[in-house]
This record gives sequence, C-alpha cells and structure tokens, in this order.
Amino acid sequence: MNTQVAIIGAGPSGLLLGQLLHNAGIDTVIVERQTPEYVLGRIRAGVLEQGTVDLLREAGVAARMDCEGLVHEGVELLVGGRRQRLDLKALTGGKTVMVYGQTEVTRDLMEARKASGALTIYSASNVQPHELKGERPYLTYEKDGQTYRLDCDYIAGCDGFHGVSRQSIPEGVLKHYERVYPFGWLGMLADTPPVNHELIYAHHERGFVLCSQRSHTRSRYYLQVPLEDRVEEWSDERFWEELKARLPDDVAERLVTGPALEKSIAPLRSLVVEPMQYGHLFLVGDAAHIVPPTGAKGLNLAASDVNYLFRILVKVYREGRTDLLAQYSPLALRRVWKGERFSWFMTQLLHDFGDHKDAWDQKMQEADREYFLTSPAGLVNIAENYVGLPYEAVE
Ligand SMILES: Cc1cc2nc3c(=O)[nH]c(=O)nc-3n(C[C@H](O)[C@H](O)[C@H](O)COP(=O)(O)OP(=O)(O)OC[C@H]3O[C@@H](n4cnc5c(N)ncnc54)[C@H](O)[C@@H]3O)c2cc1C
Repeated sequence: MNTQVAIIGAGPSGLLLGQLLHNAGIDTVIVERQTPEYVLGRIRAGVLEQGTVDLLREAGVAARMDCEGLVHEGVELLVGGRRQRLDLKALTGGKTVMVYGQTEVTRDLMEARKASGALTIYSASNVQPHELKGERPYLTYEKDGQTYRLDCDYIAGCDGFHGVSRQSIPEGVLKHYERVYPFGWLGMLADTPPVNHELIYAHHERGFVLCSQRSHTRSRYYLQVPLEDRVEEWSDERFWEELKARLPDDVAERLVTGPALEKSIAPLRSLVVEPMQYGHLFLVGDAAHIVPPTGAKGLNLAASDVNYLFRILVKVYREGRTDLLAQYSPLALRRVWKGERFSWFMTQLLHDFGDHKDAWDQKMQEADREYFLTSPAGLVNIAENYVGLPYEAVE
C-alpha cells in the first residue's frame, strides 16, 4: 500500500493532521494500535486555546464544538485567601478559551475522517518505521496475524509519549530535557454541575486544587496528592471531603457531589526532546514533549505542532518547498518551549512543594504569587500565555 503521509497514532494530533491534510488533497493513512473505543475512553484535556479552536474550525470539524463548547472569558485564581479573577478577554484584547473535552474533539475528528473515506487502520500491532533517512520511508505493522507494508513520502509520529516513533530514532540523536515533580494529580470526573461557572485554580496549604468542567452538567476536579498515593485509597467520599477542605467556605457550600465516572492519578512531568525531526520522520505532540497539566497546554501544544507540520507539508506538495521541512523542528520548538515555561511556572506558583523547596525557594514562590496576582503586568503575563501565544507564519 502507498500513501503520501503515513501517520502513526489516532489521538488528537494524528487525527487533526490527517483531516487538515486530507482537506488539502494530500493522501494520508493513519495506523493506530488501539481500537476506536479505547481511544475515546481516555479522559484527558478540556481547555482549548483560541489557536486550537481556529485550527479545528479550519479542519471543518467544529460544528458540535461551536454548539456545545463553553466559551470562557476568565478564570479564578485563589491564593492565600485572596481571590483574583483573571479577565482573559480584557487582558488579551479579546481572546478567550473554549471548554470542550479532548474526548469530544477526538470523536468529532474520528467521525469526520470516517465520512471523508480516508483510511485509519485500528488495532495495528508492532508498528515500525523504516528507512527514515532514505528517500522512500515505510511502515510495517501487523493486523489479524498478517504483516503489512505502507510506503510513503513522510511519516508523522503522532503516537504519544509511549509510542514507537521517538524510540525508533537512533540513540544519541535526540537531546532530552526533563523535570519530574514530587507530586501527582488525582482527577475525578462526575456528572454534577460545576461548582463555578469559570475554572478555579487554587493554592492551599493542603495542596493545589483545580475545579474544571466539561459541560454545564459534567465536572472535572483535581487534587494535588503525594506520588505514593494509590487511587484505591481515595473513595468518592474522601475525595469530596478533601476538595471541600481546600476551597473557601462559600465555594465549598455550593459544591454538588455525586458518584465518580472516572478517577485516576497522573504524575506531573515536563519533558522535551530536540530535534523534533529525524530524516523523513516528524515528531508531533506528546511524542516529543510532555507538560504538567497546570497550564492546560498538552493538547494545545499538540495542535500547535500540527499547525506547523500541516502548513509546511502543503507548501512542500503544492510549491515544491522541501527546504521548509528543516524548519519544522525549530518553529515547533520555539512555541513548545514557551508552553513548557508557562506550565512549569504555573506548577511552581500554585503547588505545595513541602520539603522539596528550601526556605529561600519558598520565599521566592510567595513573592511570585504576590507579584503576579497583584500587578497588572503580572496578570497580563498569565492571561496571554493561558489563552495561547500566537503561531508564527510559515514562509
Ligand atoms: C491522564 C492525562 C491527563 C491529561 N490532562 C490534560 C489536561 O487536563 N490538559 C491538557 O492540556 N492536557 C492534558 N493531558 C495531555 C493531553 O491529553 C495530551 O497532550 C494529548 O493527548 C496529546 O495528543 P497526542 O495525539 O499527541 O497524543 P495521544 O493523545 O497520546 O495519542 C497518541 C495515539 O497514538 C497511539 N499509539 C501509541 N503508540 C503507538 C504505536 N506504537 N503504534 C500505533 N499507535 C500508537 C495511542 O494509542 C494514541 O491513540 C493529559 C494527559 C494524560 C495522560
């Protein structure tokens, strides 16, 4: 089998890249190791930057998002008893974010791909990229006991943090930058109305809290927990009690509790590999970088990579601009590092590091909170990063 761009992974980055390329007349095949149901069962991100929203509209998959997604013009920051509303719209000259779950984005992209007739091969095992430095790269994969070969011009590695793409780059080529945080997030999804109409990010001496949401009737809450905690130790009752204890009384009183639809603990980590290209293989999204979720940047950085690779590939096929291929990694990384910085900064600002910060670092953390939440310039700084920095032009 032949295609122009072989895409490994049918998560949001693989599906979005596939849709944009398909609409531009570029042939793609997506090879995914899981079933569609498994991919849709993963509960992850929920806040979309303006740039991600615009890209989904450009891909023609935004009808349901524009109907059901919730446009948020602000978020609340609660630190040391002080409550500060971050008016995103006013602070950024009109920009907002959209609350619409990653599961829904993925479902819309899957349906659009199915309707377009473009091929996605699910439940493919042992996917392997070959000849990455040669003129004719190809993938092999197994399905139903048979081995198949997919020849292509380029391979997009959209297969997440545990995927095969990054691992298939020879040792010594990639430089890894990593920061591991000494705590995790316990997340709970529940069919209860959100406690607040906007998201609440709260620092508390018992630990960080995020009150997020997926719709007017579905809430997503997160608690900072020690890395050693196991999800079985957290009954629904214990979760709600701890959440109330970390929220101001008036907010805790409004909290509607109910059975958890999902509960899980995720460790927090920052990771970037450089470069994001090896020969004809391009790493996209979580395959190349991970952020702690504090800045709501994971899915948005994946979309940012897709934006750059899509625009470059269109110019390659339409105008013969193969010189642009070498621009993908530096262009994508410039924005990735800013997203990494913001995610690291928000994590530093709002979490309790206990003994992992010395007295000096704790004072710096307090000074940062004092400065960023009281200075107009500090608030603009947080707001412009939260809604998402602009994409650079591909020329
Ligand atoms: C528990 C959790 C919570 C998160 N919460 C947030 C959040 O609140 N906010 C936020 O912004 N971000 C969050 N993120 C991050 C966000 O979900 C990711 O950044 C986003 O999913 C990246 O999309 P992706 O398509 O690059 O990778 P993925 O979504 O990981 O998709 C990769 C796809 O590749 C497939 N694949 C993997 N290996 C192979 C292989 N060898 N062969 C074929 N296919 C393969 C996988 O099955 C998967 O479908 C969270 C992530 C996790 C894990």
